[in-house]
Amino acid sequence: MADKPYILIVDDVPANIQTLADVLKDKYRIKVATDGYRCLELARQEPQPDLILLDIEMPGISGFEVCKQLKKDTLTQDIPVIFVTANDQEEDEEKGLHIGAVDYITKPIRPVIVAARVDTHITLKIQRDLLTRMATHDQLTGLYNRHFLMETASKKIAYAQRHHSSISLLILDIDHFKKTNDNYGHPFGDRVLQEIGALLKKFSRMEDIVTRFGGEEFVILFDACPLQNALDKAEQLREQIAQLKPDGHKITVSIGLTEITSEQDSLEQMIKRADQALYQAKKQGRNRVIAG
Ligand code: GH3
Ligand code: MG
Ligand code: MG
Repeated sequence: MADKPYILIVDDVPANIQTLADVLKDKYRIKVATDGYRCLELARQEPQPDLILLDIEMPGISGFEVCKQLKKDTLTQDIPVIFVTANDQEEDEEKGLHIGAVDYITKPIRPVIVAARVDTHITLKIQRDLLTRMATHDQLTGLYNRHFLMETASKKIAYAQRHHSSISLLILDIDHFKKTNDNYGHPFGDRVLQEIGALLKKFSRMEDIVTRFGGEEFVILFDACPLQNALDKAEQLREQIAQLKPDGHKITVSIGLTEITSEQDSLEQMIKRADQALYQAKKQGRNRVIAG
């Protein structure tokens, strides 16, 4: 089973933390912070909380201010925040919800109410995370999908153009994969895709984007990587894949490569050039790397 969801409880009064923790500790992993600064610190750290229970009145920085800062930061803005407070002034509740909290619970704590509201927001959070993952990843290999590449690569390319840094794009296509399926079965083909996907993932760096682009095609965007380096990497990849030999069957790939050329260059044009280079690699006999 996956880890229990993680809840961060923030309150300057330890007795309040204890009351909340007693209600939630069986179902959730709990961490605590006794001031707003510590809350902001913990919220940014991996693993990030799935939900924050936030007191409003605390010395130093108030809960309202903490919530505003959480919502301003792209790294923390999606963490649901529930205010837990002695204030039952309506305008405070309005203010809390207005600055982005999902709920507002007043003290004294009624355990059943707190548990029910927390459960609801945790369920919503988990469903949302799952949908996001499904929308951005390929199920078979666990790599990013084409949609994610199109959404994020343009930003990386624009950044590289502004800072005059290099970026390279690789398209990899498995050779005669239709025959592999025909000869050894579709489930074997799926395993080949998974093994190649895992190898690409292991091979690349955090800042690269590794995607399953289509059926038996993969794209890698190598960030801050000039063509010559990308060529070396592509050659190593081609070689390592040829050595994989799942169930003793040799699988080879052809690779097309390109590098960002000018301020006018775009993701679409880079893909087009890499695809033309790939076509040449196929035409010249497969199991090779061509730059275009
Ligand atoms: P080439 O060397 O010219 O690339 O030949 P190819 O046979 O690899 O290319 P083609 O485009 O003719 O066939 C691609 C094959 O990839 C056909 C399709 O059934 C297979 N394929 C696509 N997606 C999957 C998948 O998810 N699993 C499996 N097992 N096969 C897949
Ligand atoms: Mg293909
Ligand atoms: Mg192919």
